Formats: sequence, C-alpha cells, structure tokens
Amino acid sequence: MKIVSTITDLDDFLNKPANNWKSIGFVPTMGALHEGHKSLIIRSKTENDLTIVSIFVNPLQFNDKKDFERYPHTLESDIAKLTAAGCDILFYPTTEEIYPKDFAQDLDLDLGMLDQVMEARFRLGHFKGVCIVVKRLFDIIKPHKAYFGEKDFQQFAIIKYMVKKLVVPIQLIACPIIREEDGLAMSSRNMLLSLEIRQSAPLIYKTLLLAKSKRSEMVLNELKRWVENTINTNPFLKLEYFEIVDSETLIPTASINHSHSLHACIAVRAGEIRLIDNIPF
Ligand code: AMP
Repeated sequence: MKIVSTITDLDDFLNKPANNWKSIGFVPTMGALHEGHKSLIIRSKTENDLTIVSIFVNPLQFNDKKDFERYPHTLESDIAKLTAAGCDILFYPTTEEIYPKDFAQDLDLDLGMLDQVMEARFRLGHFKGVCIVVKRLFDIIKPHKAYFGEKDFQQFAIIKYMVKKLVVPIQLIACPIIREEDGLAMSSRNMLLSLEIRQSAPLIYKTLLLAKSKRSEMVLNELKRWVENTINTNPFLKLEYFEIVDSETLIPTASINHSHSLHACIAVRAGEIRLIDNIPF
C-alpha cells in the first residue's frame, strides 16, 4: 500500500501516464478503523481497479471540542488493517493540506430540512463541516465512486443531496451497518467506552428492534415514550432522540402506519460518548 500525505504526491501518482485506472473507489474515514470501515474497502475493491482510503480527523465537523480532542488515533494499526484489506492508497493529509490558509471554509449550500432534524439539532454545524471536507476530498481525489456506511444515515442523505445540488460527477454507495456480536453498531468511539457502559450499549440496537416489533401495538407517541423509558432505565444511557423518519427526506413521520419507506434513528449518550444507530422501520 502506498501512503501519501500531500495533494502534489497524490496527483503525481494518479496522473502517471502508466496509471490508467478506469474506476477509482474512495472510502473517507477518520481512522481508528474497524470491520465497518473494512466492509466499505472490500466493497470498493470489488467494484474498482484502485481503492483510496483517507484518514483525516476533520476539525470542522466537531461541534464539541472535547470529542475532537479524545477522538482515537491508531495510525499504526490502521495501516496494518488497510494493508491486510488490500487498500491501494492511504491518503493521510495534515489539516494544513486540507485547509490551507487561503481556503474558503464555506460552502454555499442550503441543506434545508436535512440539517434541522436529529443529529443536526444536537451537533450544530456538524453537517456543514462534513460537506466541506467531503467536497474537498472529492475535489482532490476525483473518485468515480465513494463508499459510506448506513450507520451515519443522515450523513449519507446529506452527502447525496450535496452531490446532486453541486452536480458532482460521482456515484455514491451506501453500505450496510456492521455490528459487534452483541448487536452494537461498530464505531471508532466504542473503544472509548468504559466496561460498564460497553456492556449496556447493546441495549440501543435491542431497543430499536423491539420498537419495530411493537409498531402495531402502539401509536407513535406511545412508542417514543416506550423507547425513552427503555433506554433511560439503564443508569449508563440517556436518550438524546428517537425518530421515525422518511428514509429519503428524513422528515419525521406523523404516523407509523405510513406507506413510505421509514427508518428508525436513535442517538444515545453513553457517559461522555454519543452513540447513534438506525434500522429500516
Ligand atoms: P468514520 O471514520 O466514523 O468517519 O466513518 C467512515 C465511514 O465508515 C463512514 O461512511 C461511516 O458511515 C462508515 N462506518 C462507520 N461505522 C460503520 C459500521 N459499523 N458499519 C458500516 N459502516 C460504518
């Protein structure tokens, strides 16, 4: 695997006349890699002749300074995992490389309702930061396809919207959530959980599944109250939101017996760490 830190080196490599790739697949990450990331890389490898993974902890998308400071950095083991997964290029830029002094950290894009629900209400400015970095990485790498996890369901909807609005020539691919054996959605932040909290965290996915199984027994508000009580009776967990939303627009549904495709999305504070998850409803 080739490791590249600068845009010039990446350009030099990608533009070599001998390197005539028909399809470049790109997997943006913030590192601290796990099987969820690996599944995106494997998918990219099956669909492209070159797979590029980026590791960049984007300061612009952290609304909480402490979350940024404690975000795990595990470069050595990430490199070993990327090599084992068959990644071709690791792009590992510095913050200055991504955001040089004269870089306009703004994107003239109104995300509308997508930036007013769920994560957006708890993480002000987060999605603007995500859009800025993803657009910047797309501009640098110019991939044909980019791979994202459905775990960050709202993020994928927003990136899809951005790509459409800005007419970015790229195909976006959403990949299924990879879970631990006990059901907890894999996340780089899971390694920051204390043992007690880690043991409580599978309740999040369990509650989503149970909520789905109860959809014919309760009206929406009852179901929301049931989810809140179920999560909050655990001393280590606190519900931030549970929403059932239209899978495309992310507009919260007024009724569970909806004919559109719906997703149940949840965010839970587990001590200092926020965990999110979702299932098709
Ligand atoms: P991150 O490093 O957390 O920014 O995630 C990089 C990419 O991996 C994003 O597209 C995530 O949605 C995806 N991802 C993270 N966790 C999982 C998971 N458990 N299953 C599938 N994809 C995931």
